Amino acid sequence: MTIKERYRLTFAYFSRTRPLVETELDWTDPFELIVSVILSAQCTDKRVNLITPALFEAFPDAKSMALAEPSDILTYIKSCTYPNNKSKHLSAMAKMLVNDFGGVVPSDTEMLQRLPGVGRKSANVVASVVFRQPVIAVDTHVFRVSVRIGLVKNATTPLSVERQLSENIPTEMMHNAHHWLILHGRYICKARNPLCGQCGLRDFCRYYAEIKKKKSPEFKIRDRKSRFS
Ligand code: SF4
Repeated sequence: MTIKERYRLTFAYFSRTRPLVETELDWTDPFELIVSVILSAQCTDKRVNLITPALFEAFPDAKSMALAEPSDILTYIKSCTYPNNKSKHLSAMAKMLVNDFGGVVPSDTEMLQRLPGVGRKSANVVASVVFRQPVIAVDTHVFRVSVRIGLVKNATTPLSVERQLSENIPTEMMHNAHHWLILHGRYICKARNPLCGQCGLRDFCRYYAEIKKKKSPEFKIRDRKSRFS
């Protein structure tokens, strides 16, 4: 199977089974999304969504958060992972938004990456979700699922996965592709125990084909022979 065919089948499946897809983070404006994305590093979206209502009530925009000290922000985000670092990042990020960007979240990924706490992945999430730019953020789920299905070759870094996905996913599908791959990794193609039996991609998934080959009687005989030779 060619890689093009694998892309076509994968995204035709997602388009058919999950035509409407969005981030699981709760947000109402770009500022809320960027704050939620910073909080979501190494933390679940569920946990972030529990934290943000009170946080946004206290600090509804960049201006109010810029006036706060990290210790003021920390009070609201204690149940998140790495709360000390994240409160410092949020305070500095809000200050830079006010001082350098007039309080407005920029749409450009290079500009976004200048903000404290915002790396390439987070910048791509904001650019894609808020500004509908054709960029794809590669987190642990996107990385794993892309490698397993066989959408990427010799992938060693998130950047190499991002480049290969960007070259092959049609521009108009880029926004959805990010969410499709994340949700598939979160609920079906899990890190430890992928639920291949429930997966609609298994007929063209490279990982599944390899597992099937290993479990075939022919493989077992060859495997046994190789172990005793
Ligand atoms: S068949 Fe299995 S490994 Fe392949 S994408 Fe589906 S769950 Fe993941």
